[in-house]
Amino acid sequence: MARDYAFEALAEATGTDWTAGRGELNTALKSIKEQTEVEDGYLLGDLIHTRAKMYREVMPDVMLTPTALAKHWRRVLEESERKRRPQSTNRPIKPSRCETCGGDKWIVVRLRSPETTMWMEEHGIKASTTSFHEESAPCYVCNRAAYDKIRGMDAALAEQLHKA
Ligand SMILES: [Zn+2]
Repeated sequence: MARDYAFEALAEATGTDWTAGRGELNTALKSIKEQTEVEDGYLLGDLIHTRAKMYREVMPDVMLTPTALAKHWRRVLEESERKRRPQSTNRPIKPSRCETCGGDKWIVVRLRSPETTMWMEEHGIKASTTSFHEESAPCYVCNRAAYDKIRGMDAALAEQLHKA
């Protein structure tokens, strides 16, 4: 039997059991298909995941069920787009498209654990280079101001660690 990607996506995105929730899933999926022009099952599955994510953003307090997603299918998109629009005009219209952090303004850097401190370095003591721990740091590309406030780390090092 061919996989029904849209069905699977809807079940996964809403946390619905395939068997117990089959009736609801099928009904909701039928309704969703009536509201979209996407016919390809795989693409529709992708769209369902995207729309479910939007649903959680615009209606965080409402339970996400297949029926609810189908019911609010269009509204979710409208609300999401409305929310994304800048509220005030003096807010810089600069959607973060930073490739380094993906717009998060924070990156994960891998640091040696335990860290080699300045003192250790001066005394020729090296910390372990085989174990690492991950830490968040402001993005050195788009969040440089915050980045520069953090002491003890220079941009080149973070860049190197991030790429490693
Ligand atoms: Zn960035």
